[in-house]
Amino acid sequence: MAKYIEAKCRICRREGCKLFLKGDRCFTDKCAYDRRPYAPGQHGRARKKVSEYAVQLREKQKTRRAYGVLERQFHSYFEKAEMQKGITGTNLLIMLERRLDNVVFRLGFANSRNQARQLVRHGIFTLNGHKVNIPSLQVKVGDVVAVPEKNRKIPVLAEVQEVITHRSCPAWLEPSGTDFKGTIKALPRRGDIQFPVNEQLIVELYSK
Ligand code: SF4
Repeated sequence: MAKYIEAKCRICRREGCKLFLKGDRCFTDKCAYDRRPYAPGQHGRARKKVSEYAVQLREKQKTRRAYGVLERQFHSYFEKAEMQKGITGTNLLIMLERRLDNVVFRLGFANSRNQARQLVRHGIFTLNGHKVNIPSLQVKVGDVVAVPEKNRKIPVLAEVQEVITHRSCPAWLEPSGTDFKGTIKALPRRGDIQFPVNEQLIVELYSK
């Protein structure tokens, strides 16, 4: 699987906001964006005239990178979102939110979406009792994501209960840290997505 390997903090600085790509470090004073809140590179602080296209492009890149999705897959989400009923931008965000790696992250089983994706790839979790290793899998209402007994000793998961108490879980998920599982109570709605994004700009970009 293709993977984005540029330094993660550069991504936040490029997109002009904190994308929380590095787990706990993002909440400390070591956060590179907090220390240097301008674009990386020699001309990072230069004032530039920003075109409408550039604004739309940055919004798309920000969203894509926050969820750790590559361009081709992101575009395919958009095409599916367009075919669904309702508002395309909202459909797109909901599909991103329903990814299994995002659900694992939201449930508190990982510190970041990157870590969640890695854990899913290693087959640490089960979905409705079956082992899964596809981060892009779309969860449905009633699905149960769990860590089987034999995988609970993994150090990163040993801290799961502590992590869950530190991070608020969205209302559409029901975590049960003591049982190492979480249930999808409902599908996410636009209001559940706190990530600062103007999805309409993404729709406009792809509709050109
Ligand atoms: Fe972004 Fe700061 Fe986290 Fe680095 S530490 S990934 S700049 S939020």
